[in-house]
Amino acid sequence: MSQLTGQLTLSFDSEEKDITVIPDVEVIRDRDCTIDTPILHGYQPESIYGKGVEIYPAVPGKTDTPHMKKYYLNNLDPLESYDYFFSLFSGGKDSVASVLNLLELGVPKDKIILIHHDIDGGSEKKMDWPATKAYCKAFAAAFGLELRFSFREGGFWGEVYRYGSKQPVQFQDADGTMKRIVPQAWARSLELKKLMRKTELEDDMELFKRYDEELRSYGYRFKFPAKAADLSSRYCSGVLKIEVGSVTIAHQVDTKKDCKIMVLSGERRGESTNRSNYNMMELHRTHAPVRNKRVVHHYRNIIDYSEKDVWEILKRNKVSPHPCYLAGWGRASCAACIFSSPSHFAGLRELLPKYYEQIKSSEQELNFTLDNNKSIDEFVGNAKSCVDHSQKKAIYQLVSGDIKIEDIILPAEEEWTYPSGAFRQGVGGPC
Ligand code: SF4
Repeated sequence: MSQLTGQLTLSFDSEEKDITVIPDVEVIRDRDCTIDTPILHGYQPESIYGKGVEIYPAVPGKTDTPHMKKYYLNNLDPLESYDYFFSLFSGGKDSVASVLNLLELGVPKDKIILIHHDIDGGSEKKMDWPATKAYCKAFAAAFGLELRFSFREGGFWGEVYRYGSKQPVQFQDADGTMKRIVPQAWARSLELKKLMRKTELEDDMELFKRYDEELRSYGYRFKFPAKAADLSSRYCSGVLKIEVGSVTIAHQVDTKKDCKIMVLSGERRGESTNRSNYNMMELHRTHAPVRNKRVVHHYRNIIDYSEKDVWEILKRNKVSPHPCYLAGWGRASCAACIFSSPSHFAGLRELLPKYYEQIKSSEQELNFTLDNNKSIDEFVGNAKSCVDHSQKKAIYQLVSGDIKIEDIILPAEEEWTYPSGAFRQGVGGPC
């Protein structure tokens, strides 16, 4: 069996001569990465699909935490042994690079499924860019890949104002229909809300209080997620992305049972101290080999890449990134991401003033600020907007969502250039 180690070193030696090369992986933090940073991992890998190559991490997997211990995975099996490749596709540059890497490794397109979690979940009050879903659709169409959407009903704002159970998750199944998975306490929560209205009208405050206590035991937020690494306080990532992803993968009609899946995501060590400790490969939380005969391996295939490496893949494939990068943003997170810098929020106020005003009015309503210490207005202060006003087309795409298939891959005669938002010292933090 031959081995691929962290995608840096290829060894196609015979079984007797097998070696595992573990090179030192230099973590280049995004804040230290510049256009002059040398490319370390972003070169085109050899196509290994169908060649019996196992993949080993460049940094050996750790078992430092109970989570790491539980989900430890030493190596990935040869790519051709997996039935499906689910790419958790946000539309940001890292998820794009992760998919391009998969294609360059030779994985057939009909085995790759992009899953995009819509953070707004059908809510009137928005958090994400109008362009994001459109960019994901255009990217998938340009590369001939399948794209499925999923979301938690009510989205970000529904979770901020949660009183009772979590909302149901909806996801697009293999046949294109939307499926709905309802949390256990959902029906009881709805019932309690009705009962509370009734007892309020009847002025039975004793009973009202009892119902209220029970409802709160299923969940109560009325505050913004914290700007923290811990997912229980930064609940938006966990509830609206990670959990939605797991529900989606575990309930797809074609992957419920008897299959072997690889889940891919685009986290990088250079993004944050927290991510620098992530393992490149793990068992995924939907791994259920005994009960469902479903094997699910999680591969963070660009974990060791610097920001420069990521841009290099996009450049090589002539892929135009999400328009927010062209318009000046360093990250394609939610438009109003809690981690946004003052200059990002100043840019948001300029391009999507309604989003900014919604945060302001919610701060007053909740009596809780999005920043740990300051109101949004104080946090932004006199910061200069990050918007690059020369990028008229990108700004238009960003706020209108008008992105076409032909906008994704640049024509051969057009030169790929770094977007204004590249190498902005990772301002904003990870999702
Ligand atoms: S951390 Fe930011 S990008 Fe991630 S879900 Fe929360 S608000 Fe959105």
